[in-house]
Amino acid sequence: MSLTSNSTNLIETIFSELKNQKLISNNICLRPSHGSMSFDSIWYTKEIIYDPDLASLPEDEIKFGLLHEVGHIEKDHRGSICRGVIFAAGLSLIGCSVWLNLGIFGSIFGIFLLVFSTMLSSKVLANDEFQSDIFAGNILRNRFKIMAPSTILASLFSHLKNIRDQSNKSSDGMFLGFKIFKKLINIVCYLFLESHYPHEDERIANLKYECDNKE
Ligand SMILES: [Zn+2]
Repeated sequence: MSLTSNSTNLIETIFSELKNQKLISNNICLRPSHGSMSFDSIWYTKEIIYDPDLASLPEDEIKFGLLHEVGHIEKDHRGSICRGVIFAAGLSLIGCSVWLNLGIFGSIFGIFLLVFSTMLSSKVLANDEFQSDIFAGNILRNRFKIMAPSTILASLFSHLKNIRDQSNKSSDGMFLGFKIFKKLINIVCYLFLESHYPHEDERIANLKYECDNKE
């Protein structure tokens, strides 16, 4: 228990230190969110969300995770919002066509919007991720003298995987119906969201190319 609260403070401490060093703007705030197993950011509230379970990560990886999200906020990344809006428009159009009998053209255009939002996402979202990685990597290099930030990202990915595996194990005792529901949610999230994100290896390679090898 005391370990958890101490380590939770570690994320907050690192966040405050980065703020003191003027590496994070004062208007960005930090909020714990249990169960997400990741760092995340919301551009319109300028909030960085973190799972307290991530406090067991090494300091440099926490720094990278936080700064990556700062990158999304500072660079005003709205890729996922754009895509979500187009996707919702497509879905509603198909719905309207079916229920209000608007005809086949409404459905076709709706399907087009769904496909378009997916295509858009793979380009825009990938670009957002690459840019934020470079944003965080450059700070680690220039301010903290970590000359190969891609190794921090690689190790962060592998630690995050361990933490997620651990949490899946601890949910073994869960009610079967809930487990199936959780699996379904994961599949839907994967199909419509994560499968369009660049693969972890691509992100590591991109960061290595753009950041590690720079003079
Ligand atoms: Zn990101």
